[in-house]
Amino acid sequence: MHRRSFVAGLGTLWLPSLARAEAPLAENPFGLGVASGHPSPGSVVLWTRLLAAEPTQPLDGTFTVDWTIAEDERLQRVVRRGQATAEPHWAHSIHVDVNGLKASRPYWYRFAVNGRESPIGRTRTTPASNESVPLLRFAFASCQQYEQGYYAALRHMADDELNAVLFLGDYIYETSWGRNHVRHHNSGRPTLLFEYRNRYALYKSDPDLQAAHAAHPWIVTWDDHEVANDYANDLSPTDLDPKQFLAIRAAAYQAYWEHMPLPNAMQPRGASLKLYDRYRFGNLAELFVIDDRQYRAHNACHAELTRDRMLIDCAERLDPARTMLGAEQEAWFADGLKRASARWNLIAQQTLMAEAARLTKNDKRAFWGDGWDGYPAARRKLLDAVAASPVKDTVVMSGDVHSFWATDLKQDFSTSTSRTLATEFVGGSITSQGFSNERIQLLRRNNPHLRYGLGDAHGYGHIALQAKTATVSFRTVDDVRNPKSGIATASRFVVEAGEPGVKRA
Ligand code: FE
Ligand code: CA
Repeated sequence: MHRRSFVAGLGTLWLPSLARAEAPLAENPFGLGVASGHPSPGSVVLWTRLLAAEPTQPLDGTFTVDWTIAEDERLQRVVRRGQATAEPHWAHSIHVDVNGLKASRPYWYRFAVNGRESPIGRTRTTPASNESVPLLRFAFASCQQYEQGYYAALRHMADDELNAVLFLGDYIYETSWGRNHVRHHNSGRPTLLFEYRNRYALYKSDPDLQAAHAAHPWIVTWDDHEVANDYANDLSPTDLDPKQFLAIRAAAYQAYWEHMPLPNAMQPRGASLKLYDRYRFGNLAELFVIDDRQYRAHNACHAELTRDRMLIDCAERLDPARTMLGAEQEAWFADGLKRASARWNLIAQQTLMAEAARLTKNDKRAFWGDGWDGYPAARRKLLDAVAASPVKDTVVMSGDVHSFWATDLKQDFSTSTSRTLATEFVGGSITSQGFSNERIQLLRRNNPHLRYGLGDAHGYGHIALQAKTATVSFRTVDDVRNPKSGIATASRFVVEAGEPGVKRA
């Protein structure tokens, strides 16, 4: 149905590419790897997608795929097996919601089709909600522009001992940008479904990305580049007609669901996909995964029309009616925090939450309109909900800014003596280029609650959570241009229970 409406909407211009021939199953139908995600105490989602012999062409026909999940890595103690159908409508992706598993333990899984077996993946269920959990470990990462580096960081992440990977957005990039490319996109900006599918297929052909998926369950949210740069709800700076942009968004959201280990219940409907969700890890943590793209108000002062989207003297920025999460998600979030009862609250989300004011040459404060600084009233509301939670310790993990940050989230960012409500960490970028260290130190000077910043580096964040401490390590690769690069800890921080705010470990 989506495809038909595109053809009608876009006329004959696209017909040659839509008339592509269908191809038979590839020699290795599992060339995009396997993945798991959306874990609960009794369930997990298993994912794969069948590839055609010519990977950029659609695969011909419908296939029955066998799946097996077992308690051991050689798949001898099988606990469940079944069959799933790979259909052209969902790009021959498979999303198996496996139920009836035991809490808090690893499982191994494999797919097979026409006598061909997939690699074996490992996953892990979450602890039962009343289980006493001494330690949880997560990697959090974002922004893996394919052309700007190799995924050595993801290979190292595959070797970590983790409960889950939290991926915080910019899984793909829709455009080519930046300098010193080490490899290239194989097509231009996607706007149609098959073009987004091919972009995911390119990114997912990377062996290190496949290794990180095969090693851990992933819990995912998105940012803008899964669809279009700096988009807000139904507008993008490059697509200012909402009708046209929503057709692009529908294609992008469908391709996202098709390529992520998300449950069948999250299947997109047109241009809508309810991605935000909550996870509980025993008595130690409750994790809120939020979506600040799909429902947000348009940019204040039409910032989508200005080249750099900086807001100076824009009164509309402060309008309390401007939402970041949308009314429904906002209410869900506030309610969830009010009922929270684990030791820690964790929030996984896409954009820098702390205020980061820049000073213009004539000493005016300028704000980046696309991030939380473009929506300060919505941020205040979110932090009010954090402050109202009976759980007094909240750690926020963020992405988007292609640099590492540790920040104190203040009740009032304009006063350094204001109460710190939560602690935020941004885990750099896997590859995407960002701020120089010079820029970062300048920002820190104007914003004392930005307690630490590191630019010109790539990698991810690692959080080890215990009852009394959250220890966060920033893991940086030696050379993003070297696929075999080593990795090291650039800095380490601790948040002590009862004392929100950044401390050096
Ligand atoms: Fe990014
Ligand atoms: Ca982004």
